[in-house]
Parts: sequence; structure tokens; C-alpha cells
Amino acid sequence: MLQQTQVKTVIPYFNKFRKKFRTIKALSKGNEREVLKMWEGLGYYRRARNLLKCSRLLVKNYKSKLPSSIIEIKKLPGIGEYTANALLGMIYNQPRIALDGNVKRVFSRNLNIEEKKINFDKFVEKNKKKLFITNRNSDFVEALMEFGALICKPKDPNCLICCLNKTCKYFKSDKKIKSIRNRMIKNKNYDIFCYINRKQQIALTKNNQISFLKNFNLPEIKEVKSFSKNRNWKFLKNYKNSISNLKLNINLYYKFSNKLPPNYNWYSLKKNKEFVPSFTKKIFRQVSTLF
Ligand code: SF4
Repeated sequence: MLQQTQVKTVIPYFNKFRKKFRTIKALSKGNEREVLKMWEGLGYYRRARNLLKCSRLLVKNYKSKLPSSIIEIKKLPGIGEYTANALLGMIYNQPRIALDGNVKRVFSRNLNIEEKKINFDKFVEKNKKKLFITNRNSDFVEALMEFGALICKPKDPNCLICCLNKTCKYFKSDKKIKSIRNRMIKNKNYDIFCYINRKQQIALTKNNQISFLKNFNLPEIKEVKSFSKNRNWKFLKNYKNSISNLKLNINLYYKFSNKLPPNYNWYSLKKNKEFVPSFTKKIFRQVSTLF
């Protein structure tokens, strides 16, 4: 849940999730709709699907326990190099470092070398003996991430109170490396076409190829280079929506119809048992102003 998401946002979701699914076995018996519904509003729904798949595989093949080998753990859905290292370090106290943006910045600043010039895997391998000097590997994984988030922050690092300032090359140097630029923001334009009916329902399909919501409930949506008129549709409004590093500029169109296009289903604009992503709910809010 914490991938790309702040702790304060995650906490209520995590508590609700843990209350509902107390064990890996309990989660494995949940259905996708139920799990996605609990995730509703948190975004990046692939994480929820992977978690569910993962729990099922763990129950089936690993006696409901996370494997302790890096090769095995990386076979699980949604677990790449970073998550594997974080899990093995935190759960099994293995000497590992989860190289996220915060941790890379700490190392890069300590060496006063730009991140892109460091091979972090080699760096960790080479400095194993210096890095893992206690048996508290689990705390170390967590501490490094927290250190990067709270002390060696992206902007304005707290060098004066930092316990590493006596050896840190960034702190000592007159020629400090530059802070890493923010993530590249991408601007995209989309036309969205909504079939609606007088019962205040909207036609949605899971059969879409939109990367950030692939196979989730959406009306027809098309990426366009620039906006042009869509004659057969009524224009409702233009609005903005941001998802991660994407800034979406949306032109919303509608059409009243009682006929459903193939592979679409009607959904109420007010209440649905089935999971509907926040992106689509925003569309609901705009379309609801027609009634
Ligand atoms: S001294 Fe400053 S730059 Fe160096 S590790 Fe500490 S906070 Fe980061």
C-alpha cells in the first residue's frame, strides 16, 4: 500500500484491510471485487490485485509463509528487486538494503557523487562489511529509508543535526552535487465519451487499454494529441485530473442512449456494489450534473 503513497493516506486503509483479512489465508479466500472495494480511493489498483494473487500462491505453494530466498520471493506477483530486499531484510533480518529513492539519495550525498554515476548494487556488495555491522538488519533497512525521508531530505537536508555530518562528503564539500530533479510530469489530453440513460446510469467497460486503469470500469476514452470537435457527441465540460506523474486534461462528452454498446454494462451514477475507480467516479460527478 505504501508504494507511491504517503503513510498518512495509507493508515486508515491498512487498518480496515487488516481487520477484514487477518491472515494470508483469509485474504486468499477473498474475491477480487471485495479486495478492490477495500482499496477504493487508494489508486494503483494493480497492487491490490497482486496482493490477492500473491496470497493465493503463498497458501498454495508456500504454506502461507513468504519464502526467504530472493529468487523465490521475486517469483511472486508484484515483488521486484526493491520489495524483495525490503521484505527479506525486515521479516527475516537478512543483511539487505531496499534501494528506494530516499536511500539512494543518502548514499549519493555521503559520497557527493550524482546518483546516475553510482552502481548501487555494486556499491552495496563492495561495502557489505561496513554496512552490516550489527545483527539488526531489519531495523537497518527501515532506518535507512526513514533517515532519507526525515533527515537527508530531498530539499534542505538537516545536515547540522545529522549524525553523519563528520564524514559526509556532501556536507564538507564546497562543490556539492545538485539535488535530483523532481519526477518528470507528463501532460496528456483525453476525450471521454459517456453513454447515459434516463435512469441515471452510465455505460462502462473493462475492455480498455488505458495504461493507468487497464481493464477497470471506464467509459470510452481516447488519448488525443490536441482537442478537436466530436460532432456526434454533446460536450459537457473540460476538467483536469492528476494521477501520479500524469497530468490529464480531459474533454468530457455525453449522449443519451438506451442501447448498450458491445462489452459495456450499465452502472448507476449514484451507488454501485461493484468496484469503480476514483477516476471513473469523478466522471460520474460531472455527468450527474445533467440530472
Ligand atoms: S550530512 Fe547532510 S547530506 Fe550528509 S547525510 Fe547528513 S543530512 Fe545528508
